[in-house]
Amino acid sequence: MTNEFKQLDLRSQLMQALDELGYASPTPIQSAIIPAMLSGQDVIGQAQTGTGKTAAFALPILNNMAVDQGYVQSLVLAPTRELAMQVATAIHGYGRHLGVSVLPVYGGTPYGRQLSRLRKGVDIVVGTPGRLLDLIRRRALDLSFVSTVVLDEADEMLSMGFIEDIEAILKETSPDRQTTLFSATMPQPIRRLADRYMRDPQFFTIERKQLTVDTIEQRYYLVNAADKLAALTRLFEVEEISSALIFSRTRLSTGELANELTGRGFPAEALNGDMNQDARERVLNRFRRNQIKVLVATDVAARGLDIDDISHVFNYDLPQDAEIYVHRVGRTGRAGKTGTAITLLTPKERGRLRRIETYIKQKISQSTLPTVEDIQMRRKAQLVERMMIWLRRGRFSQEREIVAELAEEGHDPMEIAAAALKLVRAGEKQRPIAPLGEVQEWRQQKYKRSAKRGYGKNGRNSHEEGMVRLSLDTGKVNGIRVNHIVGTLAHYAKIPGHSLGKIRIQKQQTFVDVPEQFVVQVLAKTGSYRIGKQSINVERA
Ligand code: AMP
Repeated sequence: MTNEFKQLDLRSQLMQALDELGYASPTPIQSAIIPAMLSGQDVIGQAQTGTGKTAAFALPILNNMAVDQGYVQSLVLAPTRELAMQVATAIHGYGRHLGVSVLPVYGGTPYGRQLSRLRKGVDIVVGTPGRLLDLIRRRALDLSFVSTVVLDEADEMLSMGFIEDIEAILKETSPDRQTTLFSATMPQPIRRLADRYMRDPQFFTIERKQLTVDTIEQRYYLVNAADKLAALTRLFEVEEISSALIFSRTRLSTGELANELTGRGFPAEALNGDMNQDARERVLNRFRRNQIKVLVATDVAARGLDIDDISHVFNYDLPQDAEIYVHRVGRTGRAGKTGTAITLLTPKERGRLRRIETYIKQKISQSTLPTVEDIQMRRKAQLVERMMIWLRRGRFSQEREIVAELAEEGHDPMEIAAAALKLVRAGEKQRPIAPLGEVQEWRQQKYKRSAKRGYGKNGRNSHEEGMVRLSLDTGKVNGIRVNHIVGTLAHYAKIPGHSLGKIRIQKQQTFVDVPEQFVVQVLAKTGSYRIGKQSINVERA
């Protein structure tokens, strides 16, 4: 394969990894940033996730480093635990043939493993500012030999209140380090940070085109994982589907899902990687000719599917990767037609959906699933519509004869018509409208699990290492819910909501587990917390 990365003159182990990953050419931000970073310059990249910015800074770092020197050579700061993990995994992947050691560090997890890995020596650390600062203060992390620092998603770190921590961390590194900064937006404080801590940085801005087209209507429905099949069949009742492609990851295999749908009155076939070429072609031909309207496929099996006429794409599972979402959704709305893309989302996948929205630069709107009444009304309307066709056509002399015979036997014509409709609707019995449970919020689910594990009735001490239990003088009597607690603490104390641990709402008070490094910050704001009109005090439990 000719690889346009060749022009960047990267070491062979990196080229090998890129080949294996199937990266054939650098993205625009990579073409801009990689040469600048390789030459040792400070750079600022105004770019969002999805532009390939991780590889843009990871490849030069990996190219210029001597592996296994026993000290930290590069440091990446990221706003969230998720991003830190994602970036660490990506760097590890690009550097796999170099044998590079990458350590992600973030709050809310025990220190033990991080400390022992640091003691053994790692090449690259990727972390959230709070935990990095903690490790520096514990003298577990020495940054004096760091040659490159990356501030990833700097504006996010700013809005989460990390700016002072970032400055404190930068001061721990050598002044002749290389500094790179990535940010989707460039507010004043970020510019100031760049002025103070960067040397004559080169500035690159990367525009990304909208990735999905406007002719596709994109919606999502919030459901419990256990209710996905019920939700899907409800949608099948009300959507005007001419042909549908359902993407399923693993929960139910494609075959099982196709069988379940068929059994519920919506004939469907599966397309998966296990099928041989002949079987695959047979299924595809039936789908092309509209002999089957519903195909359940995996991403791999749907590759190269050249069918323009798909009215609906369903994400039975939200894909891990935003690019895959774009790929899937792009199966509909082709050749100038409109299309609908529907995602079944479980509460814990909300964050991933937001990342996809950022990536595609479009909002995916939330809808509510049809109720039992909606479906009954729709079934009735369809029945009446079909009847009207026959009433207008009027070619039913044989059926009229049957009605005449029954009337002669003394049956009322209204009754006869009603009985006939009953017969027509008998098929609906095979399509019972599946009940849906109330959507369980992710934090509630976690809480329920921890309650099952025996969360002490009045447990004042957190059982999780690195967490401290605080108490709030509000509870069930005030109508408090988990999201209120997370919202007010995150907002007033400027801490990431997802860093909070167990939350237990009792009658008059609430217990919350807070990561150690945020405790002072949280307690400092006691008195300013509000939920609705109520002012809330927070203290150690
Ligand atoms: P990022 O903006 O770093 O989150 O990257 C977005 C996605 O693009 C990730 O899934 C990367 O694996 C992928 N990616 C990055 N660079 C390239 C490239 N040059 N060619 C193909 N895919 C890439």
